[in-house]
Parts: sequence; C-alpha cells; structure tokens
Amino acid sequence: MEGFITRLPKAELHLHIEGTLEPEMAFALAARHGVTLPYASVEAMRDAYRFSDLQSFLDIYYAGADLLRDAADFHALTSAYLRKAHQQGVVHVEIFFDPQTHTQRGVPLESVVGGIRSALLAAERDCGITHRLILCFLRHLSAEDAMATLEQALRLRDSISADVFSAVGLDSSEAGHPPGKFTAVFERARQAGLLAVAHAGEEGPAQYIHDALELLKVRRIDHGVRCEEDPALVRRLARERMPLTVCPLSNIKLHVFDRIEAHNLKRLLDLGLCVTVNSDDPAYFGGYVLENYLAVQRGLDLSKADLELLARNSIEASFLPPAQQRRWMAAIDQVAREG
Ligand SMILES: [Zn+2]
Repeated sequence: MEGFITRLPKAELHLHIEGTLEPEMAFALAARHGVTLPYASVEAMRDAYRFSDLQSFLDIYYAGADLLRDAADFHALTSAYLRKAHQQGVVHVEIFFDPQTHTQRGVPLESVVGGIRSALLAAERDCGITHRLILCFLRHLSAEDAMATLEQALRLRDSISADVFSAVGLDSSEAGHPPGKFTAVFERARQAGLLAVAHAGEEGPAQYIHDALELLKVRRIDHGVRCEEDPALVRRLARERMPLTVCPLSNIKLHVFDRIEAHNLKRLLDLGLCVTVNSDDPAYFGGYVLENYLAVQRGLDLSKADLELLARNSIEASFLPPAQQRRWMAAIDQVAREG
C-alpha cells in the first residue's frame, strides 16, 4: 500500500509552511540566531508536541515560528518540505503562510515571501513540483489588521509578479472568530483577483462552513469535518463538489476525533463529497501526506479504489488549470492500471 500511495500523483492543498518546522531545523535555526530553546534535545522537543486542543498547539506553533527570521530561513524551511513532499509522490502543492505571524515580530513581508518563493521556484525547476501560494489571515486578530496585511501584500505583488499569490485563506483559532468577521477583507481580495479558501468546521460549528461559502465565497473548505452536524449542508457540499481539505493526523492530535477509526473521512467520501487528504502541520502532528494516507487506509480500511479517488479529488480540488489536471488524472489512471 505504501508503494501504491507513493506512486499515485497527489496534490497537497492544506499545508502551513510554518507547521513544517521539524525539531532538528528548530535547533539549527536557534543556533544560527543565538536563541536558547526551552528543550534539552531534539527528542525532548518532539516529546513536547502533545496537545489538548487547537489553542495548546498554537501556543507551541507560534513559539517555533519565532525562529524564522530572514529569507534564508524561509527558503530552508520550504525546501525541506518540498523535498519530503516530492519523495512521497506529491506533484503539486498549495501552501499556506501566515504573514501576520512574522510581520508582527518585525520580519519584513518581502523576506517571508522571497524565501518561500525562491524555494518553490527551485523545486519546480529541479523536480517539476508545481505550486500555488495562499496568504492566510490570523482570525484571532482584527479584520482591520487583516485588511492592512492584504493591502501590503498587494503592493508587494506589484513588485514581484502578478502570480505570486493565488488565494487568501483564514486560519488560527476558529472558535469565537466566525467567517463573517472577514467578509470585507475577502471581498477586497476577490476584487484584486485572488481566490479564497478558509478553515471552517474543525473546532467551529457547521454554521461556520455555511458562512464561509456564503460570505467569503470560498472555493474550498479547509477541514470541514463538522459539516456532518448539518445534513442539508452535507448534501450541498456533495452537490457542488465543494472540496474539503481534510487532515486526519491533525484531527487526532487535536482531539477533533478520539481515534483514527472514528474519523468520518470514509463516510463523507461515500456520500460523494470531494474529500482530500493533507498534512496541515506535519512536523507537529506526526506525519506528512503519505503518513496521513496510510493512517486513514489502515484505520478506515480504505481500498485501492478509495485511495485513487482521494488522489483524483486532490487534483480536481487544486487550482491547476484543466489541461494540467487532465494530465495528472491520466497519470493516476496509469498507476491504477498497474495496481
Ligand atoms: Zn490548517
């Protein structure tokens, strides 16, 4: 199964680049910047990655992000992730980054975007992995802060390239921060030619998924697993083939589900939803795309046909143009025939 999953061409659509910071790299960056980490070793740091909920994870996540200080750091982080993704058969990535996490600490947006983009372009050149970059707003901060960040990013876009960002997203603490808070920001982003996605229905209720669709006009729902609480919404998601970027290991680590056997991914897939498998913050949640596919394959007894469908969904849900999507669908057909 591991070989089969690796050979399937896949897109990863829910990946926070800051969440790929492995303890080994954290120690290297800490040494580079003269920072003392509150852990005795790489192992001790990894052991600390036990979370009771989304907020307890975010506290450690923001502490890790503080080690990212210049373009070289962002380049190294992104390159390491892309190497791993490529080894696992990921052919296309749509990466989230959180500008506010860095600009609030005084790191220039140019350094963040410059470092990530140079790594993305190098990986495309060296191993053919294609990409989109998605600028996410931290929903626990104000809408005014998000709007100022968007305007800053649009000015930066003018100086880099029209295609530097493909979409805007919404992440961080969900509960108590409904999508409606950011309606005007997302409207401005759409006017500027950007697509939209949003985290919804992870810790927040099904209503947030509905709001993300209606108010933010999103093209995908990130997570979305709590849609099951509203049968009419589930039917709508299936009818519209609205993609859900599900992150199984993340859901277990953050106690959205108690154990992988209790995950609703297979049920949603069987209901005709465009479910995809992604790694969210792989350094913190114990696995990249391959490990997430393997976890649901074993936990939910998925067949090869199910895995193939998950790979197809990831291509369908991507922002790749139709011709490129058809090319990857044909490549998936080929792997399926070979078994
Ligand atoms: Zn996420």
